[in-house]
Amino acid sequence: MFKYCPNCGAEIKDQTKQGFKCPSCHKSTFYNSKPTATVTPVYREKEILVGVREQDPHKGSFELLGGFLRNGEDPKDGAVREFQEETGVMIDKKDLRLFDVLVDKYPYEGNTYFTLNFFYLITFEKRIILESSEEVSRFLWMNLDRRVHMAFEYENVVVDKLAKTTGRE
Ligand SMILES: [Zn+2]
Repeated sequence: MFKYCPNCGAEIKDQTKQGFKCPSCHKSTFYNSKPTATVTPVYREKEILVGVREQDPHKGSFELLGGFLRNGEDPKDGAVREFQEETGVMIDKKDLRLFDVLVDKYPYEGNTYFTLNFFYLITFEKRIILESSEEVSRFLWMNLDRRVHMAFEYENVVVDKLAKTTGRE
């Protein structure tokens, strides 16, 4: 939340979770969830590729592979870009399947932001083995029958749903 109007710098004393209208310049500022996109490779409908976070928040926890979209970026393009940054593997956005979209929270620098998360699946014919990357310290092919706890709540929700969808529970 802003303490000062980003347009004119006036102090903002009165605002809601949704934003404010500046009393000085009368311009509106809206707060929205921050969009992210993840790509989850699926192997033989029973294993998915996840990573271990190299950065806070939740450094050292398992996560889905992806990140924040850029301003104005198409979610599929962002998913492909983030996946490539985290794994070094180039994928084709035509192969992505949207599985779910969920809202979650993201604590960062003392603030908690809402995120709007696009969750894509992609089928991998091979169980590629990856070492670490700059943003991911370790990768794991996680069996959907033996799930590990994920860093963000929406990830646990979506992985549970995926396990059910592939007919194991
Ligand atoms: Zn203003």
